Amino acid sequence: MEQTAQTEQTEQALEWLLERLTLCDRRITPQRVAVCAAILTHNGHPTPMEIRDLVWQSNRSISQATIYNTIAMLEEFKLIRKLDIAGSEHTHYDLNVAAHINVVCKQCGRISDVHTDMIEALFGFVAARSNYEIDTGAGLIVYGICTECQQVQNAHTED
Ligand SMILES: [Zn+2]
Ligand SMILES: [Zn+2]
Repeated sequence: MEQTAQTEQTEQALEWLLERLTLCDRRITPQRVAVCAAILTHNGHPTPMEIRDLVWQSNRSISQATIYNTIAMLEEFKLIRKLDIAGSEHTHYDLNVAAHINVVCKQCGRISDVHTDMIEALFGFVAARSNYEIDTGAGLIVYGICTECQQVQNAHTED
């Protein structure tokens, strides 16, 4: 049941993405569909390499250049967003372009999303205090240690 719901959700998201590309006057090629589908299947914050490997799992004939060009195109149209994670050698992409908080584990690099209405209020507060025009689309990145890494840490200290 859950699987079906998820597949349906991914299919709807894929349709939405392809619709946006059409609106941006981009042709819908099988290669572009494959890249969009791979990004949606990942459902997290994939790196270009992770997207490439997912595409290659279903279609090995698509070149890396095509895949990376499609990723760049999606970014250009703001359908995905580049995340600059401090200390990470890889670029990550966020599929969720709505303002939210990305919590990054400093140990394993895992990225979790936190959605809250408070982010709007927080941006408003920052704007008022700083007089800056805030780029709300950039969201927020917060660093910490995820629960799994906390457990590893605790196990070590107990030794
Ligand atoms: Zn971690
Ligand atoms: Zn995110």
